[in-house]
Amino acid sequence: MLHQALNVKVNNVVSFVGAGGKTTAALRLMEELAGIGRQVVFTTTTRILEPIPRENEYLLLADEEEALTQVSRLLTRYPKVFLAQRRLEEVDPTALGESDRDYPMRPNKLEGVPPSLVDRLAQRLSEAVILVEADGARHRALKAPAAHEPVLPASTTILVPMADLAVLGKPLTEEHVHRPGLVAGLTGAALGQPVTVEMIATVLSHPQGGLKGLPEQARAIPILNHRAEDRPLDDARQIAHLVLQNKRIERVIIASLRAPEPVLEVITPKARVAAIVLAAGESRRFGQPKQLLPVGDKTMIQHVVDIVLDSPVEQVIVVLGCRAMEIGTSIADRPVQVVVNQEWKSGLSSSVRAGLAAVKPEVDAALFVLADQPGVTTEVIAKIIERYQETRAPIVVPTHRGQRGNPVLFDRSLFAELMRVKGDQGGRQVIAEHEDELEEVEVQTEAIFADIDTADDYQTANLQSPSFNLHPPTSNSINSLIIDLDGVLYRGDEAIVGAREFMALLQREGVPFLLLTNNSTRTPGQYVTKLGKMGIVIEESDVLTSAQATALYLERIARPEARVYAIGEEGLRAALREKYTIAEERADFVVVGMDTGLTYEKLRVATLLIRSGARFIATNPDKTLPTEEGLAPGNGASLAALEAATGVAPFVVGKPEPAIFDLALARMGVGKEGTAVIGDRLETDILGGQRAGLSTILVLSGATSRQELENSTIKPDLVFENVRQLYEIWPKS
Ligand SMILES: [Mg+2]
Repeated sequence: MLHQALNVKVNNVVSFVGAGGKTTAALRLMEELAGIGRQVVFTTTTRILEPIPRENEYLLLADEEEALTQVSRLLTRYPKVFLAQRRLEEVDPTALGESDRDYPMRPNKLEGVPPSLVDRLAQRLSEAVILVEADGARHRALKAPAAHEPVLPASTTILVPMADLAVLGKPLTEEHVHRPGLVAGLTGAALGQPVTVEMIATVLSHPQGGLKGLPEQARAIPILNHRAEDRPLDDARQIAHLVLQNKRIERVIIASLRAPEPVLEVITPKARVAAIVLAAGESRRFGQPKQLLPVGDKTMIQHVVDIVLDSPVEQVIVVLGCRAMEIGTSIADRPVQVVVNQEWKSGLSSSVRAGLAAVKPEVDAALFVLADQPGVTTEVIAKIIERYQETRAPIVVPTHRGQRGNPVLFDRSLFAELMRVKGDQGGRQVIAEHEDELEEVEVQTEAIFADIDTADDYQTANLQSPSFNLHPPTSNSINSLIIDLDGVLYRGDEAIVGAREFMALLQREGVPFLLLTNNSTRTPGQYVTKLGKMGIVIEESDVLTSAQATALYLERIARPEARVYAIGEEGLRAALREKYTIAEERADFVVVGMDTGLTYEKLRVATLLIRSGARFIATNPDKTLPTEEGLAPGNGASLAALEAATGVAPFVVGKPEPAIFDLALARMGVGKEGTAVIGDRLETDILGGQRAGLSTILVLSGATSRQELENSTIKPDLVFENVRQLYEIWPKS
């Protein structure tokens, strides 16, 4: 049906211009609309032949003020009202001989109404459709508008430029074309030349042709009247595709206006839709970031993003806010555009704005997908987009058993309105304001209602995989942890938020863990005391320092009676004393750890020993040491001095070298599989974990800032603000 192809809604003003069947199209549309219970006013801003009203029709000849009061009254009794100002004496000679007319007409013409009256009527008649013949063509098949044409009401919502395909191949003369000189001017053709496909397309889509005066808000839908039903549609299709190169043209209807079914084909440009995945929320009622909950063998955000990527969308935008880094890390390998909404706390509308701002200019519509609706399928999304493609409705909403759900699609024409929404409203307000233009599409799943807001929802949705899955890309569930101390559990003498709860949780759940530090100056006993003051209760065997690791390493390579010269503090000395002779002379090993009492004498002795063949071993390579005043020299600085003096590079036990991780795994009695390193330094904790073949988790509570993470080539598997976030998502029995 024509009204469906044009997607005519109540309160629309449909203006017909051009040539080749405007009156026929308008009358046809009038019949269809009345047939579905609409009130219709058919008028003209130029002149038309006088229709002879039939049943349920009324011809009102009235001046402007009278028309305003009469039309709405008449519409309650007659669903179809013809409106003109007055009857003219002028007789159309061509009208007399027309036997193929299926609507009774008198041979005389009616003088139309001023376009301003149509605008005023459109304001008053919120329940009616107004059809306007806004151009004259003297029964020719093609025309270009003169300076005073068309007479287009500003309230036009659908502009229908028309041409009759019968003109193809006919000479560009008065006989076939109204104002052939103007057509020649628009197309560059010579008068008398046969009319081509390209010429018709140019006239219909030209801003001084078929689109002349097109109001900003109006949709343009040309109709190609194809009267010769036995002729192939190839030419018509070719014209349609040429015409659609003009972006203002929404679709082209190929019609045979007197056939029982007038619409032969509707040709639309492929709708380009951007999906905006809204994932910035805080999961307040959930108590943990639901975007990272497992769904099958993925996180929820990965699952939703993958479904969207499989759908017929042009662009995928993911809006993050709360915990943007960790959620972003989870989808870093997906070809999506991540937008961080810094204003996420101010509500959903800020995410809508952030998403819309990233939509590519050539995209026609945006589909808002909720990150907590994992049950929405590619089929549902495809169906919504398909309906949009058919109707170009400003809003398409999925329904199930008549009830509306998500995701909702908005045409670009509503982007500005969406941008103005405030607070937590989302699109609701805009939907309410466009209720009558909205298109519903019924889908076969309740998933369009089911968002995951609470733990109960999550359980009910039955999405949880058997094992908690922190690292979905490799499907490695994490079940043991190597945890760095400084910057992870504390800073200075202060515990980091969540550290106490996290450590207590690991102990309660029996998760194997080891506290691993590159600091060689303290003994495990000193760490037990330090952590104890913060309320974190551990045992000495829970700690492995680089000093201890160095001693363990020496056990593997040194004879029991080996002599060791050590630069370092109590932590290192205590670890070595148990097993080895600490000696300056004839030492087999020079072991160097952080020593705040470092002297030239110590460097001199070490240099001479290394030069005479002692093995050069270092606890850790950290070049600097953060202090309250700034960065002070770390053990790496002492190593550099010795390396310069000896030309020998040390064997480093501590992070990022794999040795200390191997020792840690041996101490814990676990394998690499399922073990993760948590640390605050990219170049030691994370790089070391990666070299050792472990999963890696960076916390931003210590030495590394977000910016540094972004700039670094070392990328951890997961990123958290602090261990509190890890605590929140860790499964609890
Ligand atoms: Mg650290």
